[in-house]
Amino acid sequence: PTDKCFSSANGTKSPTTLPLNNSFLNLDQGDPTVFESFWRELNDECTVVIKGSDLLSYLSDTGNVCWFLLPELRDAVKRLHNVVGNAVTEKKHIVVGTGSTQLFQAALFALSSPDSPHPMNVVAAAPYYSEYKDEVEVVLSRLYKWSGDANVFDKDEAYIEVVTSPNNPDGTLRGPVVKSRAEGKLVYDFAYYWPQYTPITHKADHDIMLFTFSKCTGHAGSRIGWAIVKDIEVAEKMTRYIQMSSIGVSKESQTRVAKIMQVICDNYQNFGYAESKLFFQHSKRLMVKRWKKLNEAIKQSDVFTVAKSQRAYCHFTKELSETYPAFAWLKCKEGIEDCESYFRKLKIITRGGERFGADAKYARLSMLCKDEVFDEFLTRLSNIKWVSN
Ligand code: PMP
Repeated sequence: PTDKCFSSANGTKSPTTLPLNNSFLNLDQGDPTVFESFWRELNDECTVVIKGSDLLSYLSDTGNVCWFLLPELRDAVKRLHNVVGNAVTEKKHIVVGTGSTQLFQAALFALSSPDSPHPMNVVAAAPYYSEYKDEVEVVLSRLYKWSGDANVFDKDEAYIEVVTSPNNPDGTLRGPVVKSRAEGKLVYDFAYYWPQYTPITHKADHDIMLFTFSKCTGHAGSRIGWAIVKDIEVAEKMTRYIQMSSIGVSKESQTRVAKIMQVICDNYQNFGYAESKLFFQHSKRLMVKRWKKLNEAIKQSDVFTVAKSQRAYCHFTKELSETYPAFAWLKCKEGIEDCESYFRKLKIITRGGERFGADAKYARLSMLCKDEVFDEFLTRLSNIKWVSN
């Protein structure tokens, strides 16, 4: 067996039997395996059985705008948002996608027009999630183009601003920033608006909100995301895009995700369940523990700084809480110009600041890898003074 977290610098995977202290640690991707041991405890409750004759049809619910969305997933999504209190779903349309990656592209398609004189400008405030730029640019579309940092966008042309809150890479809580007088549309990416990463400050209620199961529970391999959309025409166009790119979304995945969401909600809403079965309490404890250890190691290394976390009242946990981002966004102190290369010397693979529209002094590191990788990462951080001498 191989493991993403143990891959070597040139991308070939090394067997997990290699001693960790000699291998490259891949903290580049945010592969969310940190919650695996929690889910192992709930293996039986979460099992779904799919028979040979099940799920043959392309269709799910022909009366719904998103005709390939399984009704049980639609209901589970609404129930989960009700339990957590992080988004308004009443009088909205749910569109399911193969990850929120597909839904981001569906939203760009839905919000731009072939009749427009210019391709629609797509912007996000730096540091922004690096994939937005790559996903926009790879298709060389005439519908839309990447126009970079939303903080400096001042063209008198229509634009789409992607607002990521909490933000990837730096975990900050954000709102829109563009000041142009031109017509602007907003897409909210709420991949990390879950209680283990941030206080749930309010029920978000925007025209287009993207969520992903990948970061909510760590089931990234199921590739399920959903959009909560106010306007029926936008929901129809997003559905059309998904029809054109994949004629719907795997029903096996939808069935599994619906089941896991039901298990999470049952454990919150039914009496008699152990605290250890409450997913968000458990996953928050893990994040708190990791951030505490990381902050100590950073302090000891004296080479990096990390942005101060934000604090707010969380309506879900009913306590004042800090942010515990899924990524650490580290800045090298004076004298080190390229943070990614610095880490590479320690055999730690990160993603450098320039990919996010920021400076090379920064690098992003995943906080969601497995325990043994995280512990080895901390050991290397703690030994940094010795390494740099
Ligand atoms: N948005 C943000 C901010 C992300 O960090 C990610 C995953 N890294 C995604 C969207 C895409 O998630 P997925 O396609 O797995 O749903």
